[in-house]
Amino acid sequence: MKFNFITLFPNLVTPYFSDSILGRAQTSGLIEINCINPRDFTQNKHKKVDEYMVGGGAGLLMSAQPLCDAIDRIGQTHVIYLTPAGKKFNQNDAKRLAKLENISFICGRYEGIDERVIESRVNEVFCIGDFILTGGELAAMCLCDAISRNIAGVLGNANSLDIESFEDGILEAPSFTKPNIFNGSPVPSAFLKGNHSIINVLKNHMALCKTRFFRPDLYQTLKSPNFKEKR
Ligand code: SAM
Repeated sequence: MKFNFITLFPNLVTPYFSDSILGRAQTSGLIEINCINPRDFTQNKHKKVDEYMVGGGAGLLMSAQPLCDAIDRIGQTHVIYLTPAGKKFNQNDAKRLAKLENISFICGRYEGIDERVIESRVNEVFCIGDFILTGGELAAMCLCDAISRNIAGVLGNANSLDIESFEDGILEAPSFTKPNIFNGSPVPSAFLKGNHSIINVLKNHMALCKTRFFRPDLYQTLKSPNFKEKR
């Protein structure tokens, strides 16, 4: 999968993808990170990529021409604009987009981008939460990370995807590691006895309790509390 970041600040993006799991995915050719700077496409003699808003308004906008030319240079690609006005990105989107071959993220800056770029070039718009960032790079990196780990071969153990939060619409069950007692607090005793069917039933129950406590909105939408026992 090739990811193109259309960004004025490529140095914000590339370091994140050069380490750890996604660094290895790049080395092994499973993903490719490509940054394109719209400043390289501006026809403005001062290399300007921003303008005041027509009709007034506080702040500047990224102009349409450098962005559209940068996108057109990429060729066949699925264009995503990160914006507070977009649909909230979720795990189902990550899985769906992981099946594509080429995705381009437009990382907005200033007060955003000229609306005509969205109308003419963008396939989908996504928001990562109800707050305002200074730019779209962080949001685009969140999507790229979440999409990448759903590409076959990126995670060492693909089974870990099946038991993660948001599978079956619930959160992952609480997990513990050694020591068995930490600061006087023991792990649930059933976890120590090695009966995996009992542990799975307990984990299902704990996952439901956790979802109900931390994400009552998710809990409300569960079709049946007797969801599949695969955890
Ligand atoms: N004036 C814009 C508004 O009120 O919707 C906010 C502009 S923000 C300062 C600059 C850029 O950051 C946006 O164009 C967008 O690309 C990105 N951005 C900010 N918050 C975001 C969020 N919650 N989700 C996705 N992108 C976001």
